[in-house]
Amino acid sequence: MNDSIENKKKLSIVVPVFNEIEVLDTFYVRVKKMVETLNSLSYEIVFVDDGSEDGSYQKLMDLADMDDNIKIIKFSRNFGHQVAITAGIDNANGDAVVVIDADLQDPPEVITRFIEKWEEGYDVVYGTRNSRKGESKMKRLTAALFYRLLKTIIKIDIPVDVGDFRLMSKRAVIYFRELRERDRFVRGLVSWIGFKQIGVTYEREERCAGETKYPYTKMIQFALDGITSFSSLPLKLATWLGYFTSFLAFLYLGSVFIQKALGYTVHGWATIMVGMLFIGGIQLICLGIVGEYIGRISNEIKQRPLYIIEEIRDVENNKNENPADKPVSSWPGQ
Ligand code: UDP
Ligand code: MG
Repeated sequence: MNDSIENKKKLSIVVPVFNEIEVLDTFYVRVKKMVETLNSLSYEIVFVDDGSEDGSYQKLMDLADMDDNIKIIKFSRNFGHQVAITAGIDNANGDAVVVIDADLQDPPEVITRFIEKWEEGYDVVYGTRNSRKGESKMKRLTAALFYRLLKTIIKIDIPVDVGDFRLMSKRAVIYFRELRERDRFVRGLVSWIGFKQIGVTYEREERCAGETKYPYTKMIQFALDGITSFSSLPLKLATWLGYFTSFLAFLYLGSVFIQKALGYTVHGWATIMVGMLFIGGIQLICLGIVGEYIGRISNEIKQRPLYIIEEIRDVENNKNENPADKPVSSWPGQ
């Protein structure tokens, strides 16, 4: 009997959790119902507690007491959604790994359709949202604009309207783990890997409880990470802007000479001010763009681990440990 379990392929479901106590029970029940229909697969659910402060961790421990298929990774503090996903993927040992948010905006039932595609031989199956219920107009609009902007300026093909809800095959996961850059834009990294990728459309539902953990400040940071990690176009834009303003300045110089030759007296104060402010503004923008990239370079050369795990709970492999007891080189996230 045990043998047949050993031979089954395994699905890992990775769930980033940040202050989600209101949704965890409902989430668990829905996911459990879905996985029980997967007769040909065994499964594990890898929850990554991203420094929650609302008792989510205790709730997860209670769930894990009842269900040996649950693994928990507890971060030492909040490291952010993208890093939490990465830690989950690093620690998942399934033949396929699915990433899903805890708030049930991405319906777990869609995973069965992901699996069908995976069984057909696809390495990455991502969910494409065809509606975004319960999200503000502003969020929908900014998201739509961002995805389209990104698509036009970067070279690799990141699909439009796709979040992090996706399935990855074992080999996609193995290569994903090699990508350790600090400012992470996971969906871009997964596209970058290549192999056979396909989308499955689904309806994005409303968050089942609680509030979004992505305020606008975090969203802007995320959008910047997406653009700067996959494109140097903004840097080129700065140069073009420089050329353009110098060109305008030369034109204006011509007109100044003509005015002088024709003997007009120059009143000039307003013009000088406007020109100065305009050029000053452009210089600051360009400096800012350069700064964004330099900031990322300095982040990268510090070579810090991506995250710090305070505790791992893994009943199946009999692990209940503190990674800090082990040598640094073997720490997860290294
Ligand atoms: N999340 C996280 N760390 C964070 C922010 C969010 O692990 O710093 C998790 C959160 O618990 C949820 C998922 O990431 O499972 C997506 O967050 P949310 O639903 O708040 O984002 P939205 O869907 O509103 O963009
Ligand atoms: Mg959400």
